[in-house]
Amino acid sequence: MIYLDSNATTQVHPQVVDAMLPFLTDHFHNPSSGYSAGQSVKAAIAKARGQVASLIGAQPEEIVFTGCGTESNNMAIKALAREIGRKSSKVVVSEIEHSAVLRPTEAMAAVGFDVQRVGVDAYGRLDLAALERAVDSDVPGFLSLMWANNETGVIQPIAEATAIAQAAGWHVHTDAIQAVGKVPVRVDEVPVDYLSISGHKFHAPKGVGVLYIRSGSPFEPMIRGGGQENGHRSGTENVPYIVGLGAAAEIMEKEMQPGAGLERVGRLRDHLETSLQESLDGVRLNGSRQHRTTNVAHVAFDGCVATDMLPRLDAAGILCSAGSACMTGKSNPSHVQKAMGYSDAHAFSSLRLSLSIFSTQEEVDQAIEKIVAVAKACR
Ligand code: PLP
Repeated sequence: MIYLDSNATTQVHPQVVDAMLPFLTDHFHNPSSGYSAGQSVKAAIAKARGQVASLIGAQPEEIVFTGCGTESNNMAIKALAREIGRKSSKVVVSEIEHSAVLRPTEAMAAVGFDVQRVGVDAYGRLDLAALERAVDSDVPGFLSLMWANNETGVIQPIAEATAIAQAAGWHVHTDAIQAVGKVPVRVDEVPVDYLSISGHKFHAPKGVGVLYIRSGSPFEPMIRGGGQENGHRSGTENVPYIVGLGAAAEIMEKEMQPGAGLERVGRLRDHLETSLQESLDGVRLNGSRQHRTTNVAHVAFDGCVATDMLPRLDAAGILCSAGSACMTGKSNPSHVQKAMGYSDAHAFSSLRLSLSIFSTQEEVDQAIEKIVAVAKACR
């Protein structure tokens, strides 16, 4: 089996499993317990908080552990909705957001908020001039813009967009779920107010996430109870998963260094794209070449339909997707590719091939051979 779907989820890193196991066995104690066994579990959470803070240039107390990336997005958006109020306020998101931003903001629109979606250019990057027009300094509002897109891997002009929104006195949330652990994401360089992270996109398990909340930013908890996570997200902490997320953050901080794993992933991805284009006519690479995460190739195969290719690829042992995992089984073309101005035929002919630090040259070479054969068979 060759796994090329790392934007859907990643393999849990063996070192992450090792870090987690003691907290599923001997160290099962409640971190709120006052005795020493509880306090050492509490210390493990504090360590994980520091590891995540270090990865994104935050202060540890600004890190709130959550149940997943979707929860983080909803927490930020709902807190902001309450802050700005529905009368005479405005919410701006991009057209290419994940459903974990589109659905909660649609729910806001349904109860009377003015929600606007700003488009992207043909390379999949936000139209900053349109953002300037949408942002209104006369009313309270917020911008939610993803750092990197889950389908194309295209990195958004987040620093510029944040400056535009904040100049109007607006708050900024970013869904950085597809960027953290892949490219540098630093809240000490880009002053977003809230930032969402999901563990399973960078070798921690599924079911654990983070919401970064900049000190001083307004926040109203969605889940109230025992006051864990500094009152921001009550509920007894999911200690093994939090410890795993911390360990993954530390691993990926190292893998992002020059000469380390993610650079190698970038070379593999480039080799994959170049080889597909050299082996077949009518292979188009979607999205910005310059502004993107190193692990994604988003490729259109003219004359093919991705939903015909996927079962054949699966049978050949290649696991990948058309668009995002959440879109599987949907008959509409991807909203991301439509926003980029692609025809339905182009959108339906595209595969997302996403690598990770566990991808090997041998796997990529085999995948190239099989994808070429399947594309020829489908044409
Ligand atoms: N946002 C983006 C950009 C994603 O890619 C995903 C996962 O596919 C999510 C949000 C949801 O994260 P989670 O699966 O942790 O709920």
